[in-house]
Amino acid sequence: MGKERPLRTGLTRRKVITSAGALAGGLALSGCKYGTQAFLASKVPPPPPQPEWAGARVRGFRRLGRTGFQMSDISFGSANLEEPEVVRAAVARGIRYFDTSPDYSNAKSERAIGEGIRGAPRDQLFVASKFCTPNGHLPNEVSVEHAIRAVEDSLRRIGTDHLDLIHIHAVNTIDRLMAPNIHEAFDRLKEAGKVRFLGVSSHTPDLERVMRHAVASDRFDVIMVAYNYQHWPSIGEIFHDAHQRDVGVVAMKTLKGAYHAKLDDFTATEKESFAQAALKWVLSNQDVSGLVVSIERPEQLDEYLMASGQPFEPADQALLERYDARVSGIYCRPGCGACLESCPNDVPVDDVLRWRMYSENYGRHAEASGRYATLDPARSPERCVGCAAPCVSACPFDLPVQSRLLGAARLLGGGA
Ligand code: SF4
Ligand code: SF4
Repeated sequence: MGKERPLRTGLTRRKVITSAGALAGGLALSGCKYGTQAFLASKVPPPPPQPEWAGARVRGFRRLGRTGFQMSDISFGSANLEEPEVVRAAVARGIRYFDTSPDYSNAKSERAIGEGIRGAPRDQLFVASKFCTPNGHLPNEVSVEHAIRAVEDSLRRIGTDHLDLIHIHAVNTIDRLMAPNIHEAFDRLKEAGKVRFLGVSSHTPDLERVMRHAVASDRFDVIMVAYNYQHWPSIGEIFHDAHQRDVGVVAMKTLKGAYHAKLDDFTATEKESFAQAALKWVLSNQDVSGLVVSIERPEQLDEYLMASGQPFEPADQALLERYDARVSGIYCRPGCGACLESCPNDVPVDDVLRWRMYSENYGRHAEASGRYATLDPARSPERCVGCAAPCVSACPFDLPVQSRLLGAARLLGGGA
């Protein structure tokens, strides 16, 4: 099967969407502030918890499409999770939906979720994982038996007899979306009562095309999509179509890179308010069933759950616009990939810049470096040295792609 190349779609539209932000980002770039990004490389503590946030609970529940489950509007993402205590606290605060994957924290995330939900009524919780192993995503051509074993391994790690939802993970092509062996594995697992519903997750290039196909196919019960402020409007259309067809919509990557704690010109109040504003914006779309946000510390429950069930206000909008203007020149949009075809060395720009973000903003340096180490040297950002960088003009968001990649190479690989 030949390799599918991502489509270049919607560039003009996206350029319009972000023009104000790009202008502000461009002004910052002209001062070379983002050339090295040294201020982002150090770990900056999150905003201090506010006394009024203590003990915040889920206040909103929404139906997750045809699964019929009433999910907590703000739900538990676990990409960096290692310890179960925060999961127990989340259950006690009303979170009902837990998203995990074998490749999160080298399988520690699944174990922590399993231990954390133990003793809670299983039928009142919804546990989602991915067709994946601790070593990474299953390839499209995986055998049916291998795919089934991978899910059974997840069940053992979580300590449950079934998953409520299993996603085909990191889908960026229709070939992957409809990989026949993975679908057969799902059917067999469902027949055996080991999984209940099928989902698809994607934050990679060609996201819109993949999600349109997923929704139209009527094969998927839930879609999980990167969604944050000023994402391109057609995602909203896809969500609406999904809602009409009773497909659940779960939003992820909702903090748009989570640069807020590191923005030195953001006031303390802006840093404290940003996450809640971002989450409220996502939930202001009534076609969204709920969102998952990475949680690994109890104080994040306080911070994020304050946004549960709350309206999106004009002050939130103003803050998100200011954030957008500030990060527009450094934030590589999930699901974009518009620069990929321009690169003669096939550097996976979006992946590398996402790993950089994981390291800089989410404290996931070991994971990010590990992923970087798996790169074929022929496709490494080391190839950017001395390149004429056609990727820069191909980026509709005016990112300094080459310097961002060289920075990633230094941060994650110690090179370039
Ligand atoms: S600078 Fe790097 S990513 Fe850009 S075209 Fe050259 S090799 Fe590709
Ligand atoms: S660098 Fe620009 S064009 Fe390339 S994937 Fe990121 S946002 Fe899209």
